[in-house]
Amino acid sequence: MDNVLKGQIAIITGSSSGIGAGVAKALAKAGATVIVNHSSAKSKDEAEAVLKEITDAGGAGTVIQCDVSKEEEVTQLFADVVAQYGTVDILVNNAGLQRDAKFDEMTLEQWNTVISVNLTGQFLCARAAIREFLRRGPRPEVSLATGKIICMSSVHEVIPWAGHINYAASKGAIKMLMQSLAQEYGDRQIRVNSICPGAIQTPINRAAWETPQALNSLMSLIPYNRIGQPQDVGNLAVFLASDLSDYITGASIFIDGGMTVIEPFATGG
Ligand code: NAD
Repeated sequence: MDNVLKGQIAIITGSSSGIGAGVAKALAKAGATVIVNHSSAKSKDEAEAVLKEITDAGGAGTVIQCDVSKEEEVTQLFADVVAQYGTVDILVNNAGLQRDAKFDEMTLEQWNTVISVNLTGQFLCARAAIREFLRRGPRPEVSLATGKIICMSSVHEVIPWAGHINYAASKGAIKMLMQSLAQEYGDRQIRVNSICPGAIQTPINRAAWETPQALNSLMSLIPYNRIGQPQDVGNLAVFLASDLSDYITGASIFIDGGMTVIEPFATGG
């Protein structure tokens, strides 16, 4: 899928690590200029390392810090990208986190932290992207669609998750955010879809794969019998961002080795 995104500008939130880094590398390999976003000064070196890997491989991009839960920082992120590159074609709303607790012990701070990054962050970035797509109008020289938004959801938009209720609630809400956006802006040729990963090997779920026992128990939830890699998600993101998927909007695409076709999450593992 080399060059399917040639000439397009992509912002990938939370791309200094994990799935976001995998998506940034894949979009860059497909020809997009990528904005590697990180949230704080702490993650700057990681973001620079992701960009170096991209430019060493012949790709192009830049690193921009922005906390997606802060309205003024999101406004600034989009203003900087438009000033530097002229517009934005693709938003990958990837930034996310977990603050796990039993529900009766969950603090309001744990609830608010997850909702403000996983849900409000996606709202703020999607709104900024939609405003830019509408301002700029079609760019038929690079894409059939006027703009593309990919929301990073999770299998937990359909699988309830005891012990992680703030996270599951945020992902359930992303489903309706994504579908309603697709409905509201379809007639302006803006496509909005979600990627719903199962278990992908990243820092967010280290406890689930870092020991052989944990990995073995994880396999009982994955018919395909391997943990996913950020590159798997990157490949899907390239497809959803490109004209290869031009008739797909309002869809949740599961990438989970079959996790959603088997049962039990009742123990909250
Ligand atoms: P990760 O912890 O490696 O990546 C999360 C990224 O989000 C980090 O780069 C982090 O710095 C960034 N981030 C956090 N708060 C931010 C903020 N306020 N502003 C900007 N960036 C911020 O974990 P990951 O697994 O790569 O997760 C990426 C996305 O994929 C998340 O939305 C997560 O919910 C989703 N997801 C992951 C899995 C999995 O198995 N790894 C499964 C389903 C969904």
